[in-house]
Amino acid sequence: MRKKIIAANWKMNMTVSEAEAFLHTFLHEIGGENGVEIVIVPPFTALAKVSEILGRGQAAKLGAQNMHWEKSGAFTGEISAQMLRELYVRYVVIGHSERRTLFGETDDIVNRKVRASLEAALKPVVCIGETLEQRDAGEVESVLHRQIKVGLQGLSVRELSDTVIAYEPVWAIGTGRTATPEQAQAAHAFIRKTLSELWDSATADKVRIQYGGSVKPQNAAELMSEPDIDGALVGGASMDPRGFAEIVKAAMPAH
Ligand code: PEP
Repeated sequence: MRKKIIAANWKMNMTVSEAEAFLHTFLHEIGGENGVEIVIVPPFTALAKVSEILGRGQAAKLGAQNMHWEKSGAFTGEISAQMLRELYVRYVVIGHSERRTLFGETDDIVNRKVRASLEAALKPVVCIGETLEQRDAGEVESVLHRQIKVGLQGLSVRELSDTVIAYEPVWAIGTGRTATPEQAQAAHAFIRKTLSELWDSATADKVRIQYGGSVKPQNAAELMSEPDIDGALVGGASMDPRGFAEIVKAAMPAH
């Protein structure tokens, strides 16, 4: 049984003091152990403070929004896996569509980062998804297939099981337009089938596939009731601590 994983991608939002205030309310709202893996993904500047507040408790884990694939060197403005590890970061988002479209990240770059993260024992959350033009042209499956094949190339079975995939249709990110549960489930099932063809079905069954794209408290439960949707990567709605707690609650296993 795959444990659901809900991540808060704050993007370029949240100062250190705003992050502190968020956690104060959010951790109170969610209470103790709840059967859901929660990952808070602040901007780099708030990682140290969020790490300190989360401490060794299991309430939520820490994620980063990006990293460079080299270990160190003359890469002004970049952050290495080792720097993240020192702050107890456990997950790193790689290949978000904003990185792909605004900062020119290709599937090859995604692959370098994914491999470097796994080598450093950071779990990658690899974002894939089609644009509206690609969906309208009937290219959803070919785009997803290419992003998986190239982006995850060279991963061992063990590394693949440590990888989280986030299916984020670009047309649904920050637009208020969510994929229907049926559209999302179809894409997730295709992703799992592709993993089982490129690796094997037992490993594909272990990989968690999050949905991302305008997830909010009102639509989270319905999306996550689909068999291949194993959680959510949440942008806009993750900045409201009470709303984000409701999304986490929607992912809790039924008692
Ligand atoms: C995201 O940034 O990954 C995302 C899904 O954003 P939003 O929830 O705002 O659509």
